[in-house]
Amino acid sequence: MHSLSSASYRIKLILISGTILIASALILKYIFEPSQRCNIVLISIDALNRSALDAYNHEAPELPVLGALADYASVFENAYSTASWTLPAHGSIFTGCYPDRHGGNRPEQRISGSLPNLAEILRNQNYFTVGFTDKGYVSSSFGFNRGFYIYDDWADTLSKADLSKIPRNGEKNLQSGANLFDRGASFIKSWNEADGNFFLFLHTYIVHDYFMQYQWTVNNSNPVQDISSEYCLECLLGIKKCSDSEWDFLKKLYQTEVLRMDQGLGKLFETLIDKDLWDSTLIIFLSDHGEGFQPDIDRIHHGGRLHEDLIKIPFMISGPGIEPARLYTPVSLVDILPTVLDLTGIQVPQNIDGQSLKYVITEEDDSDLRPLYAMEFFHMWKNGRRLNVDNSGNGWLSAAVIWNNYWYNQNFHHDELYNMAKDPFQLNDLSSEATNLHEFNALVNQRKEFKSIPLSSHPDKAIQDQLRSLGYIK
Ligand SMILES: [Zn+2]
Repeated sequence: MHSLSSASYRIKLILISGTILIASALILKYIFEPSQRCNIVLISIDALNRSALDAYNHEAPELPVLGALADYASVFENAYSTASWTLPAHGSIFTGCYPDRHGGNRPEQRISGSLPNLAEILRNQNYFTVGFTDKGYVSSSFGFNRGFYIYDDWADTLSKADLSKIPRNGEKNLQSGANLFDRGASFIKSWNEADGNFFLFLHTYIVHDYFMQYQWTVNNSNPVQDISSEYCLECLLGIKKCSDSEWDFLKKLYQTEVLRMDQGLGKLFETLIDKDLWDSTLIIFLSDHGEGFQPDIDRIHHGGRLHEDLIKIPFMISGPGIEPARLYTPVSLVDILPTVLDLTGIQVPQNIDGQSLKYVITEEDDSDLRPLYAMEFFHMWKNGRRLNVDNSGNGWLSAAVIWNNYWYNQNFHHDELYNMAKDPFQLNDLSSEATNLHEFNALVNQRKEFKSIPLSSHPDKAIQDQLRSLGYIK
């Protein structure tokens, strides 16, 4: 267990720095105008529920480090993913396009190589690009290494035994990204300002794999259930109907991993502060999707559903010239690429789905009411169980459009419509009585010209084994 004094010191350091930055935010605005080159750190915490974060939910346990970041970041209150599982959502982050265009929406498909790519654009602009991930659907096999000088998805690194690719002092830990933040911090420690600017991408399953019950989790969550990881996974996939106490146990494991994430963030941020890079680094913190814990209404786990517990995500951004704010404009993962480029003064490519949020961030411009989309091509839920569907090349199985305070889900069997202003947790389906369904149908159908593009590729055996252990494929 980490020592309390060490953790407190780290957190204190972050909080002190945060307070100073809050106080000086207005001054910084005039010293650092957005649209300048700076280091970029993009942090993706897989399957992180916004409701588990006190930055979004006052009833959630305190997370000192993320809370400190939220205190001086622009925090998006209405940020949405483009999918409810890892591959298609991350494809949108890197291409600025929805899954129907980037093509990474089934286990045998890579993200398109012909679309713009965030890492590649930054690399072409002389950024040193480095990514650390716990692999799975964010591995090189799916095309995510494109544009990176170093892409450390440790399975590949280990199999090739190319230790030169591991940053100095970087340690490997095969227990689900336990040291993802160490790897990132190690890279930052080794960085010399004279080397120019870096783009650091960090992705971890530290929260996603809560049901695996790694030793750290067990030691710190005081479990009251003696159930195996395999049994837990069967609960999540709907194969077994688990009891209320078992779901409470799973929630406890989840919250423990969220706390571990916060401690890891502390290590990373402490390193940025020690290197005097904190003020000048653009930090983007987000999740690719959430995780469901509502078995009473069949909203569990992720993949195959497009409800708010999965699609509405945490997203905050801090850095030079960005003031602390709560922003309510609806935004999407497709906006990450254009926003990062715009904020660093790099030309944004045409013909992508996303748009820059620079003016939302700097001017609090909330006039944009474009429809936002989420899509599912592979999973579906039937009779409470998650199924994988062989639907390659036939378009999506379900799609959501979020527009004008409404949330419409076009599903395989039935549609749903929710008024998000009155019913933010989507408990009252209006589809049977709504008179405006045709408007949402039309918006969804507009995208049908972009059908899934099958791309022939198969992930290697190690990746397939990992995906199998997580219940994604058989
Ligand atoms: Zn994910």
